[in-house]
Amino acid sequence: MAAQAQFEALILGSGQGGKLLAWHLAHSGRRTAVVERHWIGGSCPNVNCMPSKNEIWSAGVAHVARHAAEFGTKTGRVTIDMVKVRQRKRDMVDRQIAAHLRNYKDSGAELIMGAGHFVAPKTLAVRLNDGGTRMLTADQVFLNVGTHATVPDVPGLQAASPLTNIEALELDHVPPHLIVLGGGYVGLEFGQAYRRFGSRVTIIEHGSQLLSREDHDVSEEMQRILSAEGVECLVAAQTLHVHGRSGKDVTVTVRTAAGEQRIEGSDILVAAGRTPNTAGIGLEEAGVELDARGYVRVNERLETSAPDVWAIGECAGSPHFTHASVDDFRIIMDNLAGGKRSTRDRLIPYCVFTDPPLAHVGLHEGDLRRQGVTARVAKLPMNAVLRVQASGEGPGFMKVLVGASDDRIRGFTMIGREAGEVVSAVQVAMLAGLPYPKLRDAVLAHLTMAEGLGFLLSNVENAEK
Ligand SMILES: Cc1cc2nc3c(=O)[nH]c(=O)nc-3n(C[C@H](O)[C@H](O)[C@H](O)COP(=O)(O)OP(=O)(O)OC[C@H]3O[C@@H](n4cnc5c(N)ncnc54)[C@H](O)[C@@H]3O)c2cc1C
Repeated sequence: MAAQAQFEALILGSGQGGKLLAWHLAHSGRRTAVVERHWIGGSCPNVNCMPSKNEIWSAGVAHVARHAAEFGTKTGRVTIDMVKVRQRKRDMVDRQIAAHLRNYKDSGAELIMGAGHFVAPKTLAVRLNDGGTRMLTADQVFLNVGTHATVPDVPGLQAASPLTNIEALELDHVPPHLIVLGGGYVGLEFGQAYRRFGSRVTIIEHGSQLLSREDHDVSEEMQRILSAEGVECLVAAQTLHVHGRSGKDVTVTVRTAAGEQRIEGSDILVAAGRTPNTAGIGLEEAGVELDARGYVRVNERLETSAPDVWAIGECAGSPHFTHASVDDFRIIMDNLAGGKRSTRDRLIPYCVFTDPPLAHVGLHEGDLRRQGVTARVAKLPMNAVLRVQASGEGPGFMKVLVGASDDRIRGFTMIGREAGEVVSAVQVAMLAGLPYPKLRDAVLAHLTMAEGLGFLLSNVENAEK
């Protein structure tokens, strides 16, 4: 039996919030260790956000190069070097890993590379990547184990060895015909990027629209944008079975309202949701309960059912974004210092990195109906924003929801260039409880996208008396 090492704080999984907590605790003098089986720094810098955006930017350059003549720049034939695309991404990931290792060293937090599972409350056995086992125990334990891509239970899909985001980001060639299972943000981002690299792309979504959580007009606009680039989108399509092998030939049979059809492709990518990494890690030994979907059951302070055990990020069912995991860290950090922060009523924006991107904060129109809230809705097409007239930055719209009888902004959605930046301005106004006329009447710099907020908010009707 390996000797048991004792820590004050032990973090399982070096996810986004977990690593920040580890560095913070170690910096403040607490004996801290992080157990990580693969990704130094978690999934965001290694296989999720940063590498996907890196390759999306490469695809965007290809798109601009193909359309350069429209702006008066002549180029030759545009060809794609996926080995170079991949290398650019790998170099960025290597830089990220090096930066993370420096932070571990500087903070004094110990990084233990291996797969951890609980053998008793607050006690982990770690199968070390270099061989052997280490037993670790701690006064306080934090779970930040994340999620992995769900492979839906479709006959033949598992046998087809589908790509997930991880393998799709390691391709050294452009797939002739990429079939994407799932019309959520991961499927759309990859679908558009590979279309721009030159693949034929078919996105299959079983729900009635792409981006199921968005309002119908938002989803429709996004589908129009993708279709205009040649991405084929099948919605309300039930995947019946898959034959063949990704990377060679795959045939997917789907049923839609129009009947059954076979889609023949070269590669298949699963982007059909995420499954928490909570199975098989002994959480029952640790007294940590899961909810019906396999996420760690936590309260508003991110405390689990086991004393002195917290959960952070996606595995705790927090919204699946890096900034949510980072905010989980801030909540726990403040509460450990005697604070009373909670996850309740957090205003969490998000951005889908299609081109143009989609960004959102606050309520959707659908939420208004569900919550029985009444609001005024105003919209502005992006071509009414003067910057778009000059730059030709294309389609999309802004939409704002304002309280029916107060002037508070309840929600904002934008499909358009710089949407991820513009949403922050609206978010700040919402956080400040600013009546919408204050933002409408603000002097916003000319020929920015944010200038459009003034026009949008001028379209809000007068309040009910
Ligand atoms: C393709 C893609 C693109 C995305 N893009 C964005 C984006 O642009 N913006 C955004 O905000 N979010 C994005 N996300 C979501 C974002 O990556 C996650 O929400 C974010 O990384 C938070 O993760 P986390 O902190 O919960 O855990 P993670 O960062 O996933 O970390 C969990 C870690 O735990 C480790 N682990 C698991 N089990 C064990 C074990 N038993 N022993 C040891 N280690 C273990 C894993 O190896 C992993 O490193 C994207 C997701 C995907 C899939």
